[in-house]
Amino acid sequence: MFIFNLEIANYRNYGRASLKLDRGLNLFVGENAQGKSNLLEAVYLLSTLRSSRASTDADLVRRDILNSEFPVARLACEVERSAGNLELELAIVGRSTDASHRAGKRVRVNGVAKRASDAVGQLAAVLFTTLDIEVVAGPPMMRRRYLDMMISQVDRGYLRAMQKYARVLQQRNSLLKRIQAREASATELNFWDQELAHAGGIILQARADALGHCALQAAMQMERLSDGMEELTLTYRPALANQTEFDAPIDETEWTARMLRALAAVRSKEIGAGSTLVGPHRDDVVVEIDSLPADSFASRAQQRTAALSLRLAEASYLRRALGDDPIILLDDVLSELDARRRRGVLEYFDTFQQTLVTTADPDRLREVMTRASGRFVVNAGTITRFEGE
Ligand code: ATP
Ligand code: MG
Repeated sequence: MFIFNLEIANYRNYGRASLKLDRGLNLFVGENAQGKSNLLEAVYLLSTLRSSRASTDADLVRRDILNSEFPVARLACEVERSAGNLELELAIVGRSTDASHRAGKRVRVNGVAKRASDAVGQLAAVLFTTLDIEVVAGPPMMRRRYLDMMISQVDRGYLRAMQKYARVLQQRNSLLKRIQAREASATELNFWDQELAHAGGIILQARADALGHCALQAAMQMERLSDGMEELTLTYRPALANQTEFDAPIDETEWTARMLRALAAVRSKEIGAGSTLVGPHRDDVVVEIDSLPADSFASRAQQRTAALSLRLAEASYLRRALGDDPIILLDDVLSELDARRRRGVLEYFDTFQQTLVTTADPDRLREVMTRASGRFVVNAGTITRFEGE
């Protein structure tokens, strides 16, 4: 798929911007703090309906108008897809101006109002940022987030299971605390164990499946980018008590059964702790480079290449799941690569329909400048196209 038209109004540092994008490579050049990341965040937001940065809805609305009568940011795009063209509109209400008007996000797909959970993934995108290194070197939560954001773009059942799981987990945790305080009986857990393991089974199965694909792809990309010098291994570590060994693919029902066994095995420990100790909310993915844990052994450049490989794998996963190309968004990442790796990455993106690249340092990206079909300057929240080099 590719975006051919993008409209932005009162979003972050943008007043009003309207943009015709090209197929292929689109390059956005601009000094620091001009709105390059905001632009890619806008596209990512249209795709996932969640910000790529930890932000509240109010942060997304242009600050000047936040206290006005109508504090609303609006993003809209038109997309050509193999599944049929798409018009996607997102309104972000920064602040409720009266009681009948709630703050939050409103979405329209081809003119029809939709719930956010039904509109996720209509536009598919992969965002590469310099913070991706956290997926490799950061805490387990970053790797769960990597899987969650990727899978929920293509699997609505997954998103629903995640929401249900979070609800049940909260209720189960408060029950565990009441049992600990002898205000409730342990048999009450049976019902919540079933509920949790049912939603958990869906999540575990989807994560194992996604990771099966991504592990192969990421290893291949790492090998390619490092000229066969570095070997990347990803291993799923579902948090199911002592069942750490992850064997051949199994179905949802089997994952649910495993989770129920794990819950039974740690029940008294959980009552002691007053919280749920097993399940997908504690999953991890072990990332190893040349058989050593990447967070504590790999060099910074190796971690960066591994993070890049994980995103490339995500792009391949989305393409497989959708039967269409996701939009590739590269925020500042090309300038930190050496020329050979940059070429390797760009060659791969040639196989996708559309790539948006930002840089503050166009001199380092001469080859991108030459190959780009659209070139734009971003300056204080305005975007203008320029021709030539
Ligand atoms: P860099 O090259 O440093 O990465 P950038 O071009 O990517 O810069 P952005 O991250 O897009 O810059 O941010 C541009 C500006 O947007 C920042 O100065 C920031 O203060 C501003 N900004 C962010 N949110 C809002 C908002 N809600 N209202 C107004 N301005 C905002
Ligand atoms: Mg930026």
